[in-house]
Amino acid sequence: ENGITRYDYDVVVIGAGGAGLRAAIAAREQGKRTAIISKSLFGKAHTVMAEGGAAAALGNTNEADSWKVHFRDTLRGGKFLNDPRMAELHAKEAPERILELEYWGALFDRTADGRISQRNFGGHEYPRLAHVGDRTGLELIRTLQQRIVALQQADAAEYGDPDARLRVFAETAVTSLIREDGDAGRIVGAFGYRRVDGGFVLFEAPAVILATGGIGKAFRTTSNSWEYTGDGHALALRAGASLINMEFVQFHPTGMVWPPSVKGILVTESVRGDGGVLRNSKGERFMFDYVPDVFRSQYAETEAEADGWYDDPAHHRRPPELLPRDEVARAINSEVKEGRGSPHGGVFLDVSSRLPAEEIRRRLPSMHHQFKELADVDITAEPMEVGPTCHYVMGGVRVDADTAASDVPGLFAAGEVAGGMHGSNRLGGNSLSDLLVFGRRAGLGAAAYVDALGDGTGSAEPESGVVDRAAAETVSSSLAPLKQGEGENPYTIHSELQDTMNDLVGIIRKGPEVEQALERLKELSERVEVLSAPGDRVYNPGWHLALALPNMLLVSEAVARAALERTESRGGHTRDDYPEMSAEWRKVNLSARAVDGRIELERRPVADIPEEMLALFDRDELAKYLTEAELPGGRSADG
Ligand code: FAD
Repeated sequence: ENGITRYDYDVVVIGAGGAGLRAAIAAREQGKRTAIISKSLFGKAHTVMAEGGAAAALGNTNEADSWKVHFRDTLRGGKFLNDPRMAELHAKEAPERILELEYWGALFDRTADGRISQRNFGGHEYPRLAHVGDRTGLELIRTLQQRIVALQQADAAEYGDPDARLRVFAETAVTSLIREDGDAGRIVGAFGYRRVDGGFVLFEAPAVILATGGIGKAFRTTSNSWEYTGDGHALALRAGASLINMEFVQFHPTGMVWPPSVKGILVTESVRGDGGVLRNSKGERFMFDYVPDVFRSQYAETEAEADGWYDDPAHHRRPPELLPRDEVARAINSEVKEGRGSPHGGVFLDVSSRLPAEEIRRRLPSMHHQFKELADVDITAEPMEVGPTCHYVMGGVRVDADTAASDVPGLFAAGEVAGGMHGSNRLGGNSLSDLLVFGRRAGLGAAAYVDALGDGTGSAEPESGVVDRAAAETVSSSLAPLKQGEGENPYTIHSELQDTMNDLVGIIRKGPEVEQALERLKELSERVEVLSAPGDRVYNPGWHLALALPNMLLVSEAVARAALERTESRGGHTRDDYPEMSAEWRKVNLSARAVDGRIELERRPVADIPEEMLALFDRDELAKYLTEAELPGGRSADG
């Protein structure tokens, strides 16, 4: 009854969002036998939900744009904590990846002269987001899937089997990675179960690419859907890899706040990029009061100047509604706290008084539909009510920028599950481009790794017995919740976890509250040992949640420990008790490892920004982020 179906591949990709699909295409194009495993239906991932667009300095709408300006914006957005090599590769390669999608059949919105149109977004100096209305992710996934089908058709013609070198395992969840013993032990496979019938699956493979996305379901109010339980982050930790920057969680400023059943659902930043403004209950455009010093020279001081920017950006500064997300989210939070919120605890986002109804329906069709259907609000005639929602995790697996390799031989990571690229805060649009750039690099990195293992086919045998031992252990721990008669209800624990993270490790943090959260997490981790999910293995959602809960708890502990340790405020980490940004902390990445099931942190230096990159910024601006000794021409470290 516990029979395990076994498979053998060169490269196993866990996750079928943009990162996973792009990685799988790259690995397969290198001739590797590749499996794509997805716990949701094929195509149902966060990538498909992406609305606004993919950032790439194509320079179609403003020729002044270039990879260097994109790099600069990305570092400003991440408050200089980004891995500079990742930010460089991303800015340089994003245009090629977008054009490649077009070559594969993606139909982006167009400029009047027929080039890919680009839209404004927070923190991007020029219009930069390639988009398809407000349904960009759908087109991205559709195109990548089409490319996969094309490769399968080629294999069908050559081998008589479309799955010969690229096969999709949908509704299959990976619960553990298998690794040889010892510090240098390499990855040898992955283990999981089919959601439909609960059958166990074992994939033997020398290379595994994590592309599992984020962790948003650990928080109560979130734009993320059920898949985002931090599985990849936890799999990496348990396999011995490190996560960096886990304290940085992005709260998107504009989620729906009403009705309660849809609280947290995303309202795309495109609403603001296309002219929408934020107002409080007094009708004030309050964002003008929240422009921080580091950004003051780049943002408009009056409504007239801000409004002039949409048509004449060369002679006006940007509206403050288009500050990076962390700034806008904190501003909304303050307005609500000070009693100037909307009736349901948000603020007003108004596009109805800014664009003709027809234009709103054309540019923002999903938003129009979403508000009409879910809240009975017509956004062409009245403002929306919006507030912050947990959206994205900047932290993730520590990887090599060029190959996406983690610290563990054979383990790679790309997309939201990887860390470093976005520093302390991601700019909107930079995720879709990130997952194309680094998804491809992960596929190439894994293929090169397999080749280097020796015989080039990836069939290097693992140590005898290691796979079978690991499989047996995972079967028994996976079945435990089904056998536990009396025990904790996974839904209750999940709910308590979400409240803990939302209330105590949320958008504004205080040391004593984070400590309290860590206590609660410890208690929840103990209760998780005795989860009970009665029923059988056939489509048992309680059992599925029971298997994902330990992941959410482990990852939440990483977030909370790092949030407690970092005594400054930066990007997606705001400490009420340490409100300033510190140039000393800018030099530090907090790196988390799992030791005996608990999180331990280590401080690692952030990679130096090369001189030629520093030259892209004014010295005055750099002085706001860097220590005196780090400034170009500054004092040397010992002088
Ligand atoms: P995903 O696309 O989420 O894919 C993760 C995959 O991993 C899924 O297939 C899932 O089933 C699978 N998986 C997870 N765990 C397991 C497991 N244990 N076993 C097997 N499979 C597993 N970014 C932008 O740049 N521009 C935007 O306009 C934009 N809009 C957004 C709108 C919304 C509503 C949301 C939620 C996000 C938006 N983002 C946007 C962010 C962006 O969509 C995501 O960060 C990005 O899609 C992540 O891609 P990914 O490939 O890393 O993960």
